Amino acid sequence: MNILITGGAGFIGSHVIRLFVKTYPNYHIFNLDALTYAGNLENLKDIENESNYTFIKADIADEEIVDSLFNKYKFEGVIHLAAESHVDRSIIDPLAFVKTNVLGTINLLNAFKKCWRGDFINKRFYHISTDEVYGALGESGLFTEQTPYSPNSPYSASKAGSDHFVRAYGETYNLPYVITNCSNNYGQNQFPEKLIPLFINNIIQNIPLPVYGDGNYTRDWLYVKDHAIAIDLVFHKGINGETYNIGGFNEWKNIDLVKLLCKKMDDKLGRPKGSSELLITYIKDRPGHDLRYAIDASKIKNELGWIPSVTFEQGLEKTISWYLSNEVWLNNVTSGQYQTYYKKQYK
Ligand code: NAD
Repeated sequence: MNILITGGAGFIGSHVIRLFVKTYPNYHIFNLDALTYAGNLENLKDIENESNYTFIKADIADEEIVDSLFNKYKFEGVIHLAAESHVDRSIIDPLAFVKTNVLGTINLLNAFKKCWRGDFINKRFYHISTDEVYGALGESGLFTEQTPYSPNSPYSASKAGSDHFVRAYGETYNLPYVITNCSNNYGQNQFPEKLIPLFINNIIQNIPLPVYGDGNYTRDWLYVKDHAIAIDLVFHKGINGETYNIGGFNEWKNIDLVKLLCKKMDDKLGRPKGSSELLITYIKDRPGHDLRYAIDASKIKNELGWIPSVTFEQGLEKTISWYLSNEVWLNNVTSGQYQTYYKKQYK
C-alpha cells in the first residue's frame, strides 16, 4: 500500500515518517516535502535507505506536480503535515501561509479525489492541524471538538481554512477524511524558532531569552513522539468524518516554562544556579497574541485509548539531552538564513 506523508522532513513529520517506515514494512512510505527552511533531510538520515521509503522533493502548491504524483503512485492514504508553521513568520508574510496551507491542501484534496475509487482498505485523507484554530481561552475552560473556530493569527486562519476545506470535501464529495487538532509539540528535530529549542539554543549561546509581553501566555505541551503515536492510531482506527483533539494534559505559562528550562540547563551545563534566568528579556508583545490554549483530549483518550506515554519532565529531559548532543545539527540550522530572520524578529 502506498502512503503519502507530506512535510516529512520537518519536525513532527520526521517522527511520523520514522514510526511508519519502521512499524509498517508492508506500506511504502512516500515523503513529499519542498525542503523549505524548516525541512531538513538530516532528520531522517537513519531511515533514508530503507526499502519501503522514498523521498520526493516537491511543492504541494504546484497542482501539476501533485496531480502527476497521485497518478503515478495512486496513494491509498494521505497524512498531510506539510505547512508553513510559525506564527511570527505568518505575521510577516501571510500569503506564503495561504499558498502552502490552503492552496496546497486543496491541491492534495483534488488529486486524492481524482484517484480515490472507494475500494481501498485504510483509505483516508488525514489532515494534521492545530488547536490554534479555536482562538484564545480565558483563565479557564478547554477546547473541545465542538469549540467554534475563531483563529486570530494568519497562521491559525490558514490552518482553519485548510481544516474547513478538508471537511467540505468530505461533505461535498464524500471523501473519507479525519482531522486532528493538536497542542504545542516539543522534542528532537524542532527548528529553533519555536519556544523550547529557541531558548535551549540561546541558553547554550548565552544570549538573551526573548519573552513576549509579561510571559503570562499559557500553552499545553505534548512530546512529539506521543503526537506521532496518536497520528498512527487515528490514521488506522479513527472514524471517518471525525475530528480529534490531541493534547498533553500539560499547561504551562510561558514564563514558568522558561524558568524551568533555565534551571535544567544550568544543571546540564554546569553553570551556577540562576545564571540562565538572568538572560530573560521581556520584549514587545506579538500582535494578536492568544492568552491561553488548553485542550480537552478526552475524546481520543476514551474512544481510541490514547494518552501521552511520557511525563513533561521525561520529555524535556530527552529533548534537552538531544540538543546538547547534536551540536552540528543545531549549528547547521542556526547559521545563514536563520541569523537574518533572528535579527529581524528580535531587533
Ligand atoms: P515544520 O515547520 O517543522 O515542518 C513543515 C514541513 O513542511 C517542512 O519540512 C517543510 O519543508 C514542509 N513544507 C512547507 N511548505 C511546503 C510546501 N509548499 N510543499 C511541501 N512541503 C512543504 O512544522 P511542524 O511543526 O512539524 O508541523 C507539522 C504540521 O503539524 C503542520 O501542519 C502544523 O500546522 C501542525 N501542527 C504543529 C504543531 C507544533 O507544535 N509544531 C502543533 C499542532 C499542529
